[in-house]
Amino acid sequence: MAQQETDERIGEGVLPTDEDGFVVDTVDAKEREAAHRERGTSRPITVVGHPALHKECRTVTEFDDGLAQLIDDMFASQSTAEGVGLAANQIGVDLKVFVYDCQDDEGVRHVGAVCNPVLVELDPARRRLDDSNEGCLSVPTAYAPLARTDYAEVRGQDARGNDIKVRGTGYFARCLQHETDHLYGYLYIDRLSKRERKAALKQMAEGTPRYPTVPND
Ligand SMILES: [Zn+2]
Repeated sequence: MAQQETDERIGEGVLPTDEDGFVVDTVDAKEREAAHRERGTSRPITVVGHPALHKECRTVTEFDDGLAQLIDDMFASQSTAEGVGLAANQIGVDLKVFVYDCQDDEGVRHVGAVCNPVLVELDPARRRLDDSNEGCLSVPTAYAPLARTDYAEVRGQDARGNDIKVRGTGYFARCLQHETDHLYGYLYIDRLSKRERKAALKQMAEGTPRYPTVPND
């Protein structure tokens, strides 16, 4: 197959897949992230209360240059905000796309973009919960423990519309769940108890984000 040879832009190639058909998103992670980021323009981050964050995003149907540019801008924005994952509605774009630059619990760096992600329902025997701290660029300066499965699989498409599967463990599994949630209109604080949610919003109100945000009206 000639796909790898026709790559005119680093980072937009078709990633190799492992024996189970999952993308190997660890290959050239540093180079791919840098290429996206350098082509992109950083945009300010929407915060809780912005309408784009609280509704399901539109399905991506056009896998064109506009989408490629959006993904580049998302990598640039993610880097500015020092995030490990970013959903399109976090820069105010109503499309089901997320990007990630996230280490798993073994310290291995995963870099990629997923369009139209759907979390795969896990076999209950495989559902082990981990209640580590979680934070979100759209809830700046707040953190709260939240139970997530320590393994996750996502199905979707890459920037060219090819079907892909991504899987992760530990912190990266948390990231895949968190970013997919965003595109369906859910923030992690929506999964907290009322009291914990209030505490997170209080932390946010008392803190100052270290990156540009979109003011809410
Ligand atoms: Zn988030």
